[in-house]
Amino acid sequence: MRYLDLIIKYDVTGPRYTSYPPLPCWENPPTQDEWPTHINQGKDVDLYVHIPFCKNICHYCGCNRIKLCEEIDLEKYISYLLKEWELYKKKCPLLRINSLHLGGGSPSILSVSQLDKLLSDLLKDLDKSKLNGSIEIDPRNVSSLQLQKIFDYGIRRLSFGIQDFDQVVQEKIGRIQPFEDVAEVLKQARMIGFRDINFDLIYGLPGQNIQKIEETFKKVITLRPDTIAFYSFAFVPHFAINQNNILSSDLLQGIEKWKLLETGRNLLFKSGYREVGMDHYALEDSLLFKALENGNLHRNFMGYVNHKVDTVIGLGFSAISSTPKSFAQNSKDFSQYYNLIDKGMIPFIKGHIKTDDDLKIEGIIHEVMCKQKLKLKSIDIAKVQAFINDKLMKIEGDQVIILEEGKSFLRNICMQFDKRLSVMPENVKFSRTI
Ligand code: SF4
Repeated sequence: MRYLDLIIKYDVTGPRYTSYPPLPCWENPPTQDEWPTHINQGKDVDLYVHIPFCKNICHYCGCNRIKLCEEIDLEKYISYLLKEWELYKKKCPLLRINSLHLGGGSPSILSVSQLDKLLSDLLKDLDKSKLNGSIEIDPRNVSSLQLQKIFDYGIRRLSFGIQDFDQVVQEKIGRIQPFEDVAEVLKQARMIGFRDINFDLIYGLPGQNIQKIEETFKKVITLRPDTIAFYSFAFVPHFAINQNNILSSDLLQGIEKWKLLETGRNLLFKSGYREVGMDHYALEDSLLFKALENGNLHRNFMGYVNHKVDTVIGLGFSAISSTPKSFAQNSKDFSQYYNLIDKGMIPFIKGHIKTDDDLKIEGIIHEVMCKQKLKLKSIDIAKVQAFINDKLMKIEGDQVIILEEGKSFLRNICMQFDKRLSVMPENVKFSRTI
C-alpha cells in the first residue's frame, strides 16, 4: 500500500538530468570564438565519439541514430570525425584525452579496418596503457576480430545492449538476440581480456511481466557482468516515431511497472550487486562501485562514469559536448555537419552558457545523483520536506541523506530544485519518472 501511494504521488513526467539545464531549456549558445575558451585545456578531457548508424531500428529506441543504407558512406563519416578532432586540436593545442567512449547507434557496425582508421588517428599521441576506454556493442553484429582490434587500442570496457532475454519481448521490441549468442560473444570478449563488462537492460517494455523479468535476470546473473544499467522504458512516440510500432496497451504502468523494477533489483541485490546512483548496479569489485566509495562517481550525457571530468568533447552527428561553463550539440543534419567542418567551424548548432543559478542547481543535482545526500546549508530544506515526511530522506547531522527507498525517486528530488521546470515551453515532453 505504501508503494502504491508513493507511486501515485511521484510517477510524473520529468527530465533525466544528464545535464543541467536539460537540453530543451538551452537558450544562450556560446559563439564559435567563445567555445574553445570554455574548454579547460590544461586538464584531461573525455572524448565521446558518436556512431549513429544501426542495421535496423529497434522499436523501443529513443537515441539519435539512423538506419544504415547504401547512400550512407561510413568512410566519409569517419574522415569527418577525424577532421572535427583536428579542428579541436588546432583551436585548443593543449588538449589531452583522458578517456574515450564510442557510443551510438551501433559503434560495432564499423568494420575492423574502419575501427583501425578511427582509433589509430584519434589515439595516435596517447599512451594506450593509460587510456580509460569504452565502447557500446551490439552483440548481434560484433565479431571476435572487431573485439580484438578494440582491445588492441587499449579499450577495456564493453557495454552490451541486452534489454531483455525473453523471446516474446524481443519480438515486440524488434530486436532478436538469443541468450546463447550473447553468452558466446561475452565468452570471446573475456578470452580476449575484457574485464569491465556492462549490460543495458530495460523494464516496462511491451510484453514484460514479473515472470519474464525474473527469467531474464537469472540469465543475466549467470553471465555476471560487472555493472548493469536497468532503465525505465521511456515511451515517447511523439519524439521517437519508431515507438509507434509498440502498442501502448502492451505496456505496464504505475505500480505494475514498478514491480518489474523491484523484481529485477531484488534479484541483483541477492546476487551481490549494489546500487550505484540512478538505474545502475555494480559488483563491489567493479570500477564503478569503487568510484562511488571513493567519492569519484560522476554523471554526464554518457551516464555514470568512474572519474571526475570537467570537459566532454562530443564528436559526430548530434554529439553533445560539455565544459564547466557551457554545453554544445552538433548538428543532426549530415550535410550541415559536413559543411560546417569544411568551413573550419566546430559543427555545433545548439548550446547553452550556464548562468550562476544553473551552476548552483547543477551542483545540487550532482550531489543527489552521485552522492545521494545534500548539505543542509546548501539547500532550502522545505524543498525536500515531502520526501522527509514520506521517509525517503532523513536529516543526519549537517546533511540530508536519501534513504534506500528514496533512491528510486532521485529524478523527483532533483525536480524540486529545478527552477526552469515551471517555465518550460509547452511542447517539451519528458518521460515518466517511474
Ligand atoms: S536500440 Fe541501439 S541498436 Fe537499436 S536502433 Fe537504437 S541505437 Fe540502434
